This record gives sequence, C-alpha cells and structure tokens, in this order.
Amino acid sequence: MRLTMVGTGYVGLVTGTCFANTGNDVTCLDLDRGKIERLASGQCPIYEPGLPELIRKNIDAGRLHFTADPRQAYEGADIIFICVGTPTGTNGRTDLGAIQQAADDIALVLLDRPRNAPVPVIVVKSTVPVGTTHMVRDRIRAKVGPDLAFTVANNPEFLKEGDAVSDFNRPDRVVIGVEDERTGEVFRDLYDPFVRNGHPIYVMDILSSEMVKYASNNFLATKISFINEMANLCEAFGANINRVREGMCADKRIGHQFLYPGLGYGGSCFPKDTLACVAMGEESGTPVDVSRAVHSTNQRQRERFFNKILSHYGGSLAGKRLAFWGMAFKPRTDDVREAPALTLVRMATAAGATASGFDPVAGDNAKAELGSLLELHGDMYQAASGADAVVISTDWDEFKSPDFARLASVMRTRVIFDGRNLYRRQHLGTLGFHYYSVGRATVTPKG
Ligand code: NAD
Repeated sequence: MRLTMVGTGYVGLVTGTCFANTGNDVTCLDLDRGKIERLASGQCPIYEPGLPELIRKNIDAGRLHFTADPRQAYEGADIIFICVGTPTGTNGRTDLGAIQQAADDIALVLLDRPRNAPVPVIVVKSTVPVGTTHMVRDRIRAKVGPDLAFTVANNPEFLKEGDAVSDFNRPDRVVIGVEDERTGEVFRDLYDPFVRNGHPIYVMDILSSEMVKYASNNFLATKISFINEMANLCEAFGANINRVREGMCADKRIGHQFLYPGLGYGGSCFPKDTLACVAMGEESGTPVDVSRAVHSTNQRQRERFFNKILSHYGGSLAGKRLAFWGMAFKPRTDDVREAPALTLVRMATAAGATASGFDPVAGDNAKAELGSLLELHGDMYQAASGADAVVISTDWDEFKSPDFARLASVMRTRVIFDGRNLYRRQHLGTLGFHYYSVGRATVTPKG
C-alpha cells in the first residue's frame, strides 16, 4: 500500500518506518525542512533505539521517502496518517491547529487530483479529543464538496518513547475506529504482520477509539500520582515505600507496572492528556475529578522534591552548585518535553544555585531549553565535579551503580537527592553520603 505520514516526529517517523519495513511504500511529510533534509540523507533526528538502522534499511530498499511538499506526499496515497502534535492550548484544551492545517492541505490536494485517482482513507493517529476525527472529515468535506467519496478513521498510537520500535512491531493491541466495516478490513490487512503474536486488533466506532487513548493514558497517569501520594504518606509516617510497593504489588489485581514513586510523570503525553480529559469534562458538563487531582498531585511532586533540596540548605541555595544527572523525561529517549529535571533546574537556579548537568543523550535538547541556566557536561563525574549535591532526575542505567568513591572524591560535599530511588539507603550512609530519596527516610552519613 502507499502510505503517507503527516508529521515526522516520534510517532510519524517510527510508524512510517515500521510500515515501510513490512513492505509498504511510505512517504513521511513534515513542514520542518531541516528535519526532512537530515532524514533524506539517512540521519535520524531523534534518539530511539533501533530506529536509525531501520530508516537506512528502508531508504536503501526504496520504500521510505521524505518530503516537505504536501502535494508530493498526498498525491496517490492509499492511506494518509495524520501524526502531528496536539499540544495543550489555552485553558487545558487541546490545540488542534496542526490537525486543522493538515486537513486543509489534504483537502487542497484532493480537490486537484486527477479523475480516477484513488481516494485515500484519512486516519487521525495523533491523540485527539473525542469528536476530532469527525471534525477533520467535516472540514475536508466542506472544501471538496459532497461528491468525493473519501473515508476517515481513527487509529490511536500506544508506543512508548525509548521502546517505540519494539512497541510498534509487537503492540499489546491495535485500536481502529471506522465508519464502515470495509475500512476496518483495510486496517486488518495493514496491521496483520504486527499481530502475528496473537495480540488483538479491535475495530470499533470512531468516538470510542478516540476515547480509548485518553482512558489509557489517564489511567496510567493515575497510577503514577497514586503511588507518589502513597510515597509521601510513607515519608510522613516513617514507612518505606519500597516495602509497601512489594507488599501491595504482589496482589495480582494490582501488579507491578507503573507503580514506581518518583518526581511525577513528564513527557509530551500524560501531562497534556490528563488536562485534555479535564477540558473535555468541562466542555460536556461531566466532572472528571480524578484526572484533575492526578494532574495537581503530579505538579506538586516536583515542588515537594525541590523543597527537600531547599530545606537541606536552610532555605537558600545561594552559592550552591547542584549537579543534575538525567535531563530526559525518562530513560532511553532524548525527549525533554515536560521533563522534571528542567523544572528542578529552573527552580534551583531561581533560588540562587548554579546547575551543571549530564544526560547520555538528551543533554543538547536540555541545553536548548535551559540556555545559560545549565552548564552541560559530556560525563557524569565531570558534571558532579565541585558540586555540593547530585540531583538524580532520570533513571538511566549508567546512574544505577556509579563509582561512589570516585563520585565522593570529585564532589565538594557528599549529598545526593535521588528522585528515582536508585540506591540502597544503608549503603549510601556507610559511604558517608547524605541521601534523600522518595517515600523513604533520609539517610545521614554514618560515623
Ligand atoms: P512531535 O512533536 O514529535 O512531531 C510532530 C511533527 O509534526 C513535527 O515534526 C512537526 O513539524 C510536524 N507537523 C506539524 N504540523 C504539520 C503539518 N501540518 N504537516 C506536516 N507536518 C506537520 O509529536 P509526537 O510526539 O510524534 O506526537 C504526535 C501525536 O502522537 C500527538 O498527538 C501525541 O500525543 C501522539 N502520541 C505521541 C506519543 C509519543 O510517545 N511521543 C505516543 C503516542 C501518541
């Protein structure tokens, strides 16, 4: 099939590349010409394990193309996947500007298409408020007139950054919202190579399909805020969240996933998707109090952690040098959107500290956001050199078993604020560290 991905970001690029890899002819469109030029020359603009090799393989096979020209991208496509960003706009509502622009561009090309050229299925893959796919249909219909027989569909994406290629190739489920069964069959064929593991393809109505994505992300965000509140209660009463987690998660109804305390979620999805749910509730007069609370608990978690840093230093960070380990919102990605580390650097520097930092892959993106607030280093020990404390914001593997003796020798004072609970507390105390974590009592140096 000839497929077009509109928006060549984390979702469009991974999806397009994986579809090309199963034999489809895929064109990825983006308005960002710089990104398209890099891709066309075989360079991957994002960090995503396994993706660069797959891009090169499929370019070489002649199945994967990149363009910044909407006409070239849309003409002759069997299916057009809209994968543009849907960030938070005003009052928590989703900004649908990029979706609307894509719809208008598609309509223009459809209007000019040669007679008897195929009419594409237009699929919204971006995460969108319920009703948006119908809005796209109506917007295109208003421009092309009643006689052109195009169809729309919704196909939410569930891949996780850092595991995006394997998630897309082996999804837990595929969800497709359609207006007619024939379109459903088109998608069953397209996704068949990805569900050979027996995992299901659910074909449903478009409104339910759009809602599946919000229900899933709001539930996952709820788990994170829930465990963070339990961790905070543990701190208040002297319990240890790690023990509580073990005892709680052994219950099969609860399970272990997404119940790790920390600095709260970041990234480009959970923060905006919880707010979007609250906004949909307001718009429809349907209270969604859980998502509202999940969001405010999440934002508070960072402030709470920052207050630990502040109170360790008696309320002022003037003259203090903090070394931040981890900038990405989670490991195995270079994405720093809504990353807790960025919030903490901004808070710490506003309170008078200087901030040095290291991230295995997201350093440049963090520097682009933080500018002179961050002194970026290419090595974790270099970043910690002369620091009064190390602040851990991302649980990258390389932070899990550092050389503590080396760390202690380069730091000014042995203090660690660990927002990811990476270390055994007793061990750190024995090594002479002052060690703060989440949901566990603080350790002071022994001896
Ligand atoms: P992104 O910001 O990485 O990429 C979006 C791309 O679209 C950008 O490169 C931008 O230049 C391009 N673009 C914007 N308007 C365009 C237009 N009119 N024509 C062509 N290109 C255009 O975004 P993303 O992280 O890939 O997310 C895309 C959507 O997928 C969002 O709705 C998001 O919620 C959803 N989603 C994201 C993830 C994730 O992990 N990132 C996972 C599942 C779903």
